[in-house]
Amino acid sequence: MQIKDILKQHNFRFNKQFGQNFLTDEQLLDEIVQLSGITKEDVVLEIGAGAGTLTGSICRAAKRVVAFEIDRNLQSILAITLANYNNCEVVMADVMKQEVSAIEKQYTDNKPYKVVANIPYYITTPLIMKFVEGSDKVASLTLTIQKEVAQRLCAKENTKDYGAITVAVQVVADVSLIKVLDRTLFYPVPNVDSAVINIKMNRNKHNIDDIKLFGKTTRCAFAMRRKTLVNNLVNTFGIDRVVAENILADIDLPSNIRGESLSVEKMVELSNVLASKNIR
Ligand code: SAM
Repeated sequence: MQIKDILKQHNFRFNKQFGQNFLTDEQLLDEIVQLSGITKEDVVLEIGAGAGTLTGSICRAAKRVVAFEIDRNLQSILAITLANYNNCEVVMADVMKQEVSAIEKQYTDNKPYKVVANIPYYITTPLIMKFVEGSDKVASLTLTIQKEVAQRLCAKENTKDYGAITVAVQVVADVSLIKVLDRTLFYPVPNVDSAVINIKMNRNKHNIDDIKLFGKTTRCAFAMRRKTLVNNLVNTFGIDRVVAENILADIDLPSNIRGESLSVEKMVELSNVLASKNIR
C-alpha cells in the first residue's frame, strides 16, 4: 500500500506545528541515504521519523537505526511501515527535551554514530547546534533543511549568507550542500525549497584557546554588519580603538575590515590573540 493511502486509512492529520512535510519518493530517499555515505557498519540516529519513509531507506543501508518521533499519532503508522525491519528502534519522544549525552548513553552505547534526517523546520538551528556543539560522538549529519539555511551553513566569507551560525559549524566541521530539493517533492508541499547538506565533523580542524571567547568573538564580528570590526571590538570588549587596531595588525588584517570578511581561520586567530591578551 502507498504511504499516502496508509495515512488516509489512519485518518492522519498533518500537524504544521511539528513541521510535518514528508518525503515519499523511494528513489529520492535511497539517493539521500546513499549520499550520506552510511554503510552496514553504521548506527544511525534519525530525528523525526514521520511515516517512516526515510527510516526504511536508512534501515536498508545501516547496521542499526534509532528513529525519534514526537507525534504519537504516527506510532501505529510506523508500526506498519517499518514492520519488515528488524534493525530499527522507534522512540516516541521530543528529541529537544533530551540531553545529547543521555541519548548517546541510552541508544548508541556512547559509540560514534551518524545522523540522517529530514528535520522539522521549526527547530533547524537549535537541533543542528545541539549535536554539532553538544556531542563528541556524532561523526556526520546528513540533513534535509530549508534551502536558505543550507546556504548559510555552507557560505564563504564576504557573502550575505555568511554569519555567526556559518562560523560556529564550519569551525568544527566540513559542510557541503549535496542536493537541492524542490518543494513539490514534499507532502504536503511547504512554501520553501529544501536542500540536503552533509556536516562532516572535523573537531580538530582549528586550535581554539578559549571556546567561550571564540563564541563571543564571532557574535561580536557579526554584531553590526555595517560597522567595522574595530568598532564592534571596541563596543563588545570595552577596549580602546588603538588596542583594537593593533590586535588586527597582529594578525595581518587592515583596520577598516568588516567582521563578515574574516574567514573562519582568521576568526580563530582573532579569538586566540584576544585570549593571549586576556581580553574577554
Ligand atoms: N522523516 C520523515 C520524512 O522524511 O518524510 C518526516 C520528516 S518531517 C519534515 C519532520 C518530522 O519530525 C515530523 O514527523 C515531526 O512530527 C517530527 N518532529 C517534529 N519535532 C520533533 C521533535 N522535537 N522530536 C522528534 N520528532 C519531531
